[in-house]
Amino acid sequence: MKKEFIFLGPPACGKGTQTNKLAKYLNFPHVDTGSLLRAEIKGETAAGKEAKLYIDKGQLVPVDLVANIIKNRLSQEDCKNGYILDGYPRSTEQADKLNDINNSIDKEPAKFSAIYFDLDHDVLISRIVNRRSCPKCGEIYNLKYHPPKVDGLCDKCGEKLTQRKDDNEETAEARFETYFRETAPLIDYYKNKGLLKTIDANGSIDDVWERLLAIIND
Ligand code: AMP
Repeated sequence: MKKEFIFLGPPACGKGTQTNKLAKYLNFPHVDTGSLLRAEIKGETAAGKEAKLYIDKGQLVPVDLVANIIKNRLSQEDCKNGYILDGYPRSTEQADKLNDINNSIDKEPAKFSAIYFDLDHDVLISRIVNRRSCPKCGEIYNLKYHPPKVDGLCDKCGEKLTQRKDDNEETAEARFETYFRETAPLIDYYKNKGLLKTIDANGSIDDVWERLLAIIND
């Protein structure tokens, strides 16, 4: 049976790292809307130019713009057995859209799980401003909790690490506001449908990974 996983949680809760690992473990594609949008920006497409106006302010990009990108991606052959969706949906409106998208792609119902990363708020901003990532292979680091072995360089491929433009304190605050206003209501949305699984996202990458493995096969 096809398995669809979506992940919820505030910015920098560790979803990106864990969903990357899970995608490799299950051999499912990791579909991350933030990265898909950043690729559109880099490619200077019309969608990218529009998305940039919102991303730079820490706001959500318009519903239809993201829905088109997601629909194209989830329709691809590599998603036919399942996918890991990271950063989508981010509002109840997007959750309804995702339902429509899934119904238009799948003839048979899939097993759907929403996994919520629950984390103490005070560690989040510190995680954001210390986050660095590899623009080549996507590996994510944290200067405090998970630094690269050689300062500024990716352990995996040696590429120079970069900081996301929206990972500064001001934009980070705006992203939290957006999260609590638009995205947090999804916790009850999926809980009420009996689809929510909550994971304690405090602790090391390995601790959280163990907890994740324990719940994905439930
Ligand atoms: P992320 O990499 O998930 O932190 O996303 C970075 C930025 O991309 C967000 O602050 C939003 O501006 C935009 N974004 C990512 N995913 C979505 C989405 N599902 N809906 C609207 N905007 C999004």
